[in-house]
Amino acid sequence: MHTLRPEHPPTTSPIILYEEQLSGTIQQVADPERIAAVARRHARIAQRTGDFMDTHYAYNSTGLNMEAVREFTSNKGWTTDPLYLTDCNGEELDAVLEKNGVSYLTPDEGAGLCASGIGLVIAHRNTEHEQQYGPLITEEVAIHELAHSAYRNRTTYYIAYRNGEISADTVRLGYRENIVNTDPAKDHVQKKGAFIEEGIVDEQRAHYAQLHDPRRIDPDRQIAYSKTHTDIKIPVRYTPLPINESAGGYPLLFIPSLASYALSILSSLDPELESCYEQSRFNTDAISETYTRFDSLRPGLARELRDLQYDEDDFAEGLRIAQDVAREHGFDRST
Ligand SMILES: [Zn+2]
Repeated sequence: MHTLRPEHPPTTSPIILYEEQLSGTIQQVADPERIAAVARRHARIAQRTGDFMDTHYAYNSTGLNMEAVREFTSNKGWTTDPLYLTDCNGEELDAVLEKNGVSYLTPDEGAGLCASGIGLVIAHRNTEHEQQYGPLITEEVAIHELAHSAYRNRTTYYIAYRNGEISADTVRLGYRENIVNTDPAKDHVQKKGAFIEEGIVDEQRAHYAQLHDPRRIDPDRQIAYSKTHTDIKIPVRYTPLPINESAGGYPLLFIPSLASYALSILSSLDPELESCYEQSRFNTDAISETYTRFDSLRPGLARELRDLQYDEDDFAEGLRIAQDVAREHGFDRST
């Protein structure tokens, strides 16, 4: 049976090593012995993190339908990193891990994270959310993060800083790219493609939710994305609904939903995009084809969307771009 929690596999992906120079620039290192030494050190940290998670976070899935999560990932054909369910949020977890010498785990959406550089997936069990939206909310978070993790064609890069810290991540995780920068005036790592990657995996979360909450299937129901963008409405399939809606609870909105809605608008203009999105977990060519198809819808669209950074304003901008493209093709997707 497909298990969500296998033994920690050794890192077998190809490795690239960068080191911080005295000047503050980052340079790639070619010496195989130094690369191997950093990889060994990282493997020890990864193992220690896995042991720590095993010891401190019992796999408490009480009340969750983990069989359904397993079945969904198995039907998709995904192979993923081990999933941990925790009861503390990303920031708390970061702080706890830092005490144990692991300082490069940063929260993704806060609700969960896919730490591809170290090879683990975390879904946060938020008791308040589970009470209001049901345990489905945690299963949705798990599906989102597992969908990121399903991208297996990885190359790990390490940056060894002069203060002794090592950061590890993957050069590419699906559509998300980390471009290591040798220009001291810029950030060491330039991130691209988050909008598309988040959109792809959040669509998987929506698919899963529709299987378990019939209210999310309604194609005509839209929810106001009201945090700061009151003008934006998104389909109900992306928005966890309170168990008891008449009690006055609010739907829960995730920033990645803005991206998944945008990508669904683009695939309604070019239905072949659907299979590119699905295949992107297994096949990097599907990612190039996605960009080619975006550019066929509007020249330069791929670059516009790849450049968007992971924040609410950029993601709202991405949705506006997709709606503009739909209008250029004679469709109104503004609501
Ligand atoms: Zn994500």
